[in-house]
Amino acid sequence: MFELTDEQKALVDAARAAAQDILGPTLKEDDEAERFRKDLFARLGAAGLCGIPTSGDYGGLGLGYFEYCLALEEIAAVSASYGVSVAVNGLPQVILGEFGNEAQKQRWMPGLAAGELLGGFALSEPGSGSDAASLRTTAQRDGDFYRLNGTKFWITHGGYADVYVLMARTGGEGPKGISAFLLPGDTPGLSFGKKEEKMGLRASPTVELILEDAKIPAENLLGREGDGFRVAMRALDSGRITIAAISVGICRASLQVASTYACQRKQFNTPIIDFQGVGFLLADMATRTEASRLLVHKAAWLRDRGLSYSEVAAMAKCFATDAAMAVSTDGVQVLGGYGYTREYPLERYMRDAKVMQIVEGTNQVQRVVISRNLRKAFGGAP
Ligand SMILES: Cc1cc2nc3c(=O)[nH]c(=O)nc-3n(C[C@H](O)[C@H](O)[C@H](O)COP(=O)(O)OP(=O)(O)OC[C@H]3O[C@@H](n4cnc5c(N)ncnc54)[C@H](O)[C@@H]3O)c2cc1C
Repeated sequence: MFELTDEQKALVDAARAAAQDILGPTLKEDDEAERFRKDLFARLGAAGLCGIPTSGDYGGLGLGYFEYCLALEEIAAVSASYGVSVAVNGLPQVILGEFGNEAQKQRWMPGLAAGELLGGFALSEPGSGSDAASLRTTAQRDGDFYRLNGTKFWITHGGYADVYVLMARTGGEGPKGISAFLLPGDTPGLSFGKKEEKMGLRASPTVELILEDAKIPAENLLGREGDGFRVAMRALDSGRITIAAISVGICRASLQVASTYACQRKQFNTPIIDFQGVGFLLADMATRTEASRLLVHKAAWLRDRGLSYSEVAAMAKCFATDAAMAVSTDGVQVLGGYGYTREYPLERYMRDAKVMQIVEGTNQVQRVVISRNLRKAFGGAP
């Protein structure tokens, strides 16, 4: 875990080169224009970056989450938006791998793993975010079909995805009434509403999904009726590690730009890194980056060995995303006025970092998960 193998180092180099080559040229203009490019995503797929932990039987590289996180750090160090794209596209693959039947896997996984198809994950609704179990979208059985009605909010790749894993209510109130479905992007009755105008992550589309009697075959049910909440939570456990890995990428990019600048920029005839006030800021940025990476690697390592990883994943998500916010903000400070301009990428890193504290369960929700475990461990008699 502390030293990469030659194969892992090669993966890191390849991911770094591919991200810079594919995403670098249009990065700034896409951020400004709030533009997602499916063709760039497909090129990431062609470079082998969209199905790293997916089994080779279904078109993936068959590597671990550890390798996946190494690659995500590299992609996100160039573009957090596309880091999130790769991670979100990974969620249906994780879900299909665990809950899909053979026909569902064969239909969707190879395309998703190759980046030829784009995946989405539709859980959140206008009235249900952190409290996902209160979702209201319905799926009503109608012969060999389900009819879906409701609205999903904040859906990454909304309008672009070829398939979404969508959670809807087939039963009564609460988590047990929720089921998970594969919803093809061209389903009649599925339309797309508002595209969010966001502070950051601007090359990643976040869109409202509207379901008006959208009819899907009953065979698109994932697992059994009532499994949907478990499907979503399992996916989010894995997704949290990826958001943490993306945040390490933001930390690293911020640190690199700020350190380079601080070595070159002189004030009072001195490189500003030699002022303790700046040098210590950079030292803390480096320490936060390294500590975040270690937590991400531990969570991925546990997951790859089939060990319990939910709590460490929550810690990694919480710590690394808070670190990304702090490190990018301090990076802006190191650059002074230049940091606040769009001439340098620090302001983008800072805007992108903020959303990491919110998605895949807010950091308050992660602390709920961690403190509940403490309650279990230490809640006995005083
Ligand atoms: C850019 C972006 C992309 C997204 N992509 C997707 C996607 O692809 N698919 C999808 O399904 N969703 C997606 N989301 C939605 C995201 O998962 C939710 O925004 C998130 O879960 C929080 O829900 P909410 O926004 O409704 O906030 P709320 O749940 O309303 O929370 C508001 C505040 O209350 C706090 N809070 C809530 N409950 C508790 C509690 N029990 N204890 C302490 N504090 C609490 C929260 O931490 C937060 O600070 C995306 C969101 C964004 C911004």
